[in-house]
Amino acid sequence: MAIRLERYREIVHGRAGARFLEADLEGKLLRAGELSSPCRLCERRCGADRRGGKTGSCGVPGARVSSEFLHYGEEPELVPSHTIFFAGCTFKCAFCQNWDISQDPAAGIEMAPASLADRIERGGGINVNWVGGDPTSNLEYILRVMRELRDRDMNIAQVWNSNMYLTEEAMGVLDGVVDVYLSDFKYGNDRCARRLSGVDRYFEVVSRNHRLAAGQCEILLRHLVMPGHIECCTRPVLDWVAANIPNDRLRVNVMDQYHPDHMVLREKEKYPELCRRLRPQEFLEAYEHARRLGLDLV
Ligand code: SF4
Repeated sequence: MAIRLERYREIVHGRAGARFLEADLEGKLLRAGELSSPCRLCERRCGADRRGGKTGSCGVPGARVSSEFLHYGEEPELVPSHTIFFAGCTFKCAFCQNWDISQDPAAGIEMAPASLADRIERGGGINVNWVGGDPTSNLEYILRVMRELRDRDMNIAQVWNSNMYLTEEAMGVLDGVVDVYLSDFKYGNDRCARRLSGVDRYFEVVSRNHRLAAGQCEILLRHLVMPGHIECCTRPVLDWVAANIPNDRLRVNVMDQYHPDHMVLREKEKYPELCRRLRPQEFLEAYEHARRLGLDLV
């Protein structure tokens, strides 16, 4: 069997260069700036003039770092991971477990790109893990930090930890700078996505972006199994991934840690199926399905 995330592992061991070191970061910065005003970084395509201080649906005017630290709780191949949590998100998930930062774009602090690069340089992580909320709204800032890292000749893998609701144009900016997509694929249909995360065209957008991501680099895909969503979400997601993403570019983490949180606790009558934890038998069913599909499981 092929070694998964092979290219990423080569970077971690210093036998290959992280992609951003060779990328045209100036050109990508210009493009990211264009895409942020009017904003079309994510498929909400709000058109907000973010450079003029306006905000769109995510509420993010400029990057605010909620926290950054060496994360030891990620998948084994990623730790220790220097994880950068941005405030704000392009989604509004009713069950979000990070809702205090994802739904509060004012959480956190502004941090100069050079200051964050300093922390990454001193931190000792084996990768930089851009997350939130979701990192998409902060693409221009992230490229500025990468430029600082490049100027220090820091060979460190770049992990894009995202709901994958970016536009195709934003995916184009990421092409050549991301080493691993730590992607989230939650819903097997648009109805659940609209009801639980408030987004349209979910399956079309997120499946398209997984295809694009697989054309760029390797993917470590996360799927959170949710109670009552195995038939409508878990099975279709896993089936689609197995049929459409080359197996040698993919690892899959089928996750069992769902617990009721955020709006699910406040409006229980609206989310009756999500008001409990997953039963062991439900997780086993999901995991076995993924195994039978031949997916490489974390
Ligand atoms: S990133 Fe934010 S402002 Fe830009 S299109 Fe998406 S939701 Fe709107």
